[in-house]
Amino acid sequence: MNQFEDVSAPPYKLALIGFRYDENSSSMKGAADAPPQIRAAFRSDASNFWSEMGVDLGAEGTFFDAGDVEPVVGTEMFSLIEDSVRTLLSDNLAPICLGGDQSITYPIIRAVSRKYPGLSILHFDAHPDLYDELLGNHHSHASPFARIMEEGLAKRLVQVGIRTINGHQREQAERFGVEVIEMRHWRDDLTLDFASPVYISFDVDALDPAFAPGVSHREPGGLSTRQAIGLIQRLQAKVVGADIVEFNPRMDPIQTTAAVCAKLLKEVGAKMLK
Ligand code: MN
Repeated sequence: MNQFEDVSAPPYKLALIGFRYDENSSSMKGAADAPPQIRAAFRSDASNFWSEMGVDLGAEGTFFDAGDVEPVVGTEMFSLIEDSVRTLLSDNLAPICLGGDQSITYPIIRAVSRKYPGLSILHFDAHPDLYDELLGNHHSHASPFARIMEEGLAKRLVQVGIRTINGHQREQAERFGVEVIEMRHWRDDLTLDFASPVYISFDVDALDPAFAPGVSHREPGGLSTRQAIGLIQRLQAKVVGADIVEFNPRMDPIQTTAAVCAKLLKEVGAKMLK
């Protein structure tokens, strides 16, 4: 048994928590099954717990595994999500949240921004997720960043990997002052600098489907895994929380995308420990 599984040795620095929830996915279910798959890939003997930059995520006291949260009849899932993240933060644990569809980011950010007023968000995605509503759902997985910006929960929102922006979402981005770095303008030497604490939200469909086919909305022309990792490693910021969302195991027949998620977990976790 490695230290990752040893829950008897606090204090920990990071908390891993899964949200098995995909009710707000507009086209396809399946993301609710992602957290156990990401955990299995992360713990797989096929790799180790070291990040590329030399951080050992298997070291004692690094990770507290808070387990998975599932919907409970009679309880609002968003309240469960917000409350569980708030509990981890109050224990001085920096949360890494495994989705689930992207709608979970809104209640997570409600908790994180309360602890870190002036929070910034770095959002990897093919989609801006700024719809006022989609198919009548204001909490659609295509809308969380509209809710976040309306409520003033983020001082700065920077989006990378974007390649599906339409007229409505371009208006929303302007209205909220979102810094959209569209995929067509990507540069491999892009470096982002944040003065305030940063939350990283990583929708796996930011990556090209060639690298991460296990998503509900495959959008060609995306980031390579290498480009995404490079941006995270070059990031100049204090990272206080993160999510990895929209991985759909039903679209991932040979577990390629599960391995990608585990790799992102290591690189993001290492950044949070810096
Ligand atoms: Mn997306």
